[in-house]
Amino acid sequence: MLEVRGLEALDDNYIWLAGRPGSQRVMVVDPGDAEPVLAYLSHQGLALEAILITHHHGDHTAGIGELLSHYPVPVFGPSREAIPRVTDPVHDGQRLTFSDGSTFQVLETPGHTRGHICFHGEGVLFCGDTLFTAGCGRLFEGTPQQMSDSLDRILALPAETLVYCAHEYTEANLRFAQVAEPANSEIRHRAAEVAEQRRLGRPTVPATLDLERRTNPFLRCRIPHLIAAAEAWVGHPLTTPAEVFRAVRAWKDALD
Ligand code: ZN
Ligand code: FE
Repeated sequence: MLEVRGLEALDDNYIWLAGRPGSQRVMVVDPGDAEPVLAYLSHQGLALEAILITHHHGDHTAGIGELLSHYPVPVFGPSREAIPRVTDPVHDGQRLTFSDGSTFQVLETPGHTRGHICFHGEGVLFCGDTLFTAGCGRLFEGTPQQMSDSLDRILALPAETLVYCAHEYTEANLRFAQVAEPANSEIRHRAAEVAEQRRLGRPTVPATLDLERRTNPFLRCRIPHLIAAAEAWVGHPLTTPAEVFRAVRAWKDALD
């Protein structure tokens, strides 16, 4: 069992802290800002064990230097991206074991960036800006085929996996999901639930991969009515899941 705590940072980022219950040392994922992390650690009497980085963007990395000046810990990050202060570049399939016994496996998921990685283990997935709750990251460096393959790899994880993405985007993502799949009652239900959570100022992350499978259009590129809607939007037939993904991504980008 893993205990995961989220800190709100920057505009809409989440910085995740993880460790086994009772452990005095925690991992931090994607510290885009050091200040809230340092404040939380000192308030809770915790120390840092390691820093985990999913990709090179500043809102995921800007706090590394300051954290290292307080806690000289290993920094695990993608081997395919040059990120200053990453001490341990990691590659697909690599297993990381921490002092509390928790184990994570590295999953390379290119698309948002060329070398983006996720960390999967202990029933949770830290997926940075690859998969979002009810959405996915924009394609800044990768191709639709790469992102589609990356999302397929995530889809193959156990349904009960808790998805910890790096941003609070669920409400806006579900607005698009309702445009893409107006007849999907689970999306409608989730949108109402999420609107209420946000009204109360509560986080909507994490979500189970099972809920994502049922309500996230970017994970539904093999569902006939979504394929038909994507074809109607682009105006021609789409023959592969990656082509459907490309169309759905372009459709959402056009509305943002
Ligand atoms: Zn990013
Ligand atoms: Fe980000």
